[in-house]
Amino acid sequence: MNFQSGWKVIRGKWDCNYLRFKIFDLRFFVSIMKKVLITGGAGFIGAHLSEYLLNQGNEVICVDNFYTGSKKSIVHLMSNPGFELLRHDITFPLYVEVDEIYNLACPASPVHYQHDPVQTTKTSVIGAINMLGLAKRLKIKILQASTSEVYGSPKIHPQTEDYWGNVNPIGPRSCYDEGKRCAETLFFDYWRQHNLRIRVIRIFNTYGPRMAINDGRVVSNFIVQALRGEDITIYGDGSQTRSFQYIDDLILGMVKMMENKNDFIGPVNLGNPNEFTIKELAEKVLELMPESKSKIIYKELPIDDPKQRQPDITLAKKELSWEPKIELKEGLEKTIDYFKNILSL
Ligand code: NAD
Ligand code: UDP
Repeated sequence: MNFQSGWKVIRGKWDCNYLRFKIFDLRFFVSIMKKVLITGGAGFIGAHLSEYLLNQGNEVICVDNFYTGSKKSIVHLMSNPGFELLRHDITFPLYVEVDEIYNLACPASPVHYQHDPVQTTKTSVIGAINMLGLAKRLKIKILQASTSEVYGSPKIHPQTEDYWGNVNPIGPRSCYDEGKRCAETLFFDYWRQHNLRIRVIRIFNTYGPRMAINDGRVVSNFIVQALRGEDITIYGDGSQTRSFQYIDDLILGMVKMMENKNDFIGPVNLGNPNEFTIKELAEKVLELMPESKSKIIYKELPIDDPKQRQPDITLAKKELSWEPKIELKEGLEKTIDYFKNILSL
């Protein structure tokens, strides 16, 4: 064998091995790649989660009826071949073939969930039944985006997962609070009765880029008001507290919860334990925008507005090795930049 044909043989073998390695690589990749259904995928959290899961190499089916979500928040994902958008209301049955479900559909801002309270309860309860039925047929895992609102106006502080809550069943917030509580009940009944693989997370106040300008929740309201030079509207005397979590921290916690291998089903609190009064929040926003001409004004406190809210995240730390990393100042700066950009200021 002369040098040239010897080299061809060596190269041929190497190419073959390389190809074999690539096929193995591809097979490994395909086996970890999942087709994930995200209901409420065009909303604030859903859009971030869709982007994260696509970047991890998964396919995403985003289901949304655009009640509060919008195509704008997912337009940057539309050209990705792994992304599919379905306009659908989850109060109606859905037939798709997927490997995993994140059930996020439900308006989350008090302004929006109180606008059509009957639809809010239907989305939480009938929507959960439909998505649980789908998960049961496909024998797949399903994660429920529950909320700190299941604790209502809490009598213990900070809130641990074993606290049953203090919820008004007939007030203006009840459509959301009780809807989410009933959804949790359904998830645990499907787990007990049908052995369904469930995950339940209780999300505390989360904020960040891609919140809608008209979302109505406190962080986006204060930032948009400060940027436009409008009055900053504190409801009540501003002494009520919330613990604000930046969106990127939540997304990592959600995915860790879905993927945990210990069959830890929750419920688990996902939030940032750093607690602030609403007045402190308004002052921080103004501190970060010294050029703003806005003044703080006080308006009536909405009925049943919880007085305090702070997650105990001991369980998330233990079971998921998760804790939030982004502090309020850093998260607010990123969110302010986002709103500056979309308001073209
Ligand atoms: P969001 O309002 O931005 O998103 C909700 C999405 O669900 C929207 O795109 C909306 O159009 C869609 N939707 C509503 N009803 C639907 C229906 N019947 N069928 C299909 N789609 C429907 O709210 P978000 O902040 O992204 O919240 C997402 C989930 O997380 C909600 O379930 C909410 O309860 C939960 N959560 C959020 C927070 C938070 O601070 N952001 C806190 C606790 C819980
Ligand atoms: N809030 C406020 N001004 C606003 C919007 C909200 O003072 O423009 C208050 C609201 O009364 C509540 C807190 O901020 O005490 C958080 O409200 P949000 O609507 O963000 O969520 P909640 O935790 O009440 O569901």
